[in-house]
Amino acid sequence: MIRLDHVSRIFNVGGEQVHALDRVTLTVKEGEYLSIMGPSGSGKSTLLNILGLLDRPDHGTYHIDDQNTTRLGDDRQAAIRRHQIGFIFQFFHLIPRLSAADNVALPLMLAGVPPRQRRERVSHALARFGLTDRARHRPDQLSGGQRQRVAIARAVIMNPAIILADEPTGNLDRASGEEIIQVIESLGKAGLTVLIVTHDPQIGKRARRSIRLVDGRIVSDQEQHA
Ligand code: ADP
Ligand code: MG
Repeated sequence: MIRLDHVSRIFNVGGEQVHALDRVTLTVKEGEYLSIMGPSGSGKSTLLNILGLLDRPDHGTYHIDDQNTTRLGDDRQAAIRRHQIGFIFQFFHLIPRLSAADNVALPLMLAGVPPRQRRERVSHALARFGLTDRARHRPDQLSGGQRQRVAIARAVIMNPAIILADEPTGNLDRASGEEIIQVIESLGKAGLTVLIVTHDPQIGKRARRSIRLVDGRIVSDQEQHA
C-alpha cells in the first residue's frame, strides 16, 4: 500500500548539498508494523515526513494505494494526510491552550464533522486511551505519558490507515515509554500500518520488520521475531 521508488531529498545548507535521503526504495504492506532505526542525522525524520506528506521528495515517486502522491497538488495531499495518516511526534505537538478533548477534536473540526458527532467520537477516543478523567486538562496539566496518549488519540480520531511515529518515547521516562509502545503496538494489532522511528534497540527489536538507515540510505531491511 506504501511504495517509495528511488526517493531522494536534498537540502541546501550554506551552499552545500546534504542528501538526507539518497534513492530510497521501500514497500510497506497494509497492516505491517515496521521500525526505522539509524544514527542521528541518517534521514529517519525526513523519511517519515515524506511518508506523511509533510514534505516532498526532490526525486523519485511515492505511491499510496496505487496513487502517485508525488503528482498531487498541496490540497489533495493535505486531504490524504488528514484522512489516511496519523502522526505521533517526540514532543507531542499539542496545542497548549486547548484541553485534551479539544486537541483530540481538532482533526474532526477541520474535517467539518458536526459538534454532536464530534463530542461522541472524542469521548470514545479519550476512554479508549484511559483519558476520560483528563478531558478538561490542558497539556501542561498532564504528564508526558498522558500527553502522548492525547497525541495518539488525536492521531487515530479520523480512523487513518497509516500511523507514523517519530521517536514517540524519546521524551518519556522508561515506564511511560513502555506504556506508549504498548498503545502503539495495539494499533498495529488492530490492523493499522505502523512505522515507528526509534533509536532504542529494545523497541526496534519488537517490530516484526526493521529497517536501518545510514547517510540517507537503507542499509538493512530485516524480518524479525518478537
Ligand atoms: P534523523 O531524523 O535520522 O536524525 P533527519 O532526517 O532529521 O535525521 O536529517 C537528515 C539530514 O538532513 C541531516 O544531515 C539533517 O541535518 C538534514 N536536514 C534535515 N532537515 C533539514 C532541513 N529542513 N534543512 C536542512 N537540512 C536538513
Ligand atoms: Mg529525527
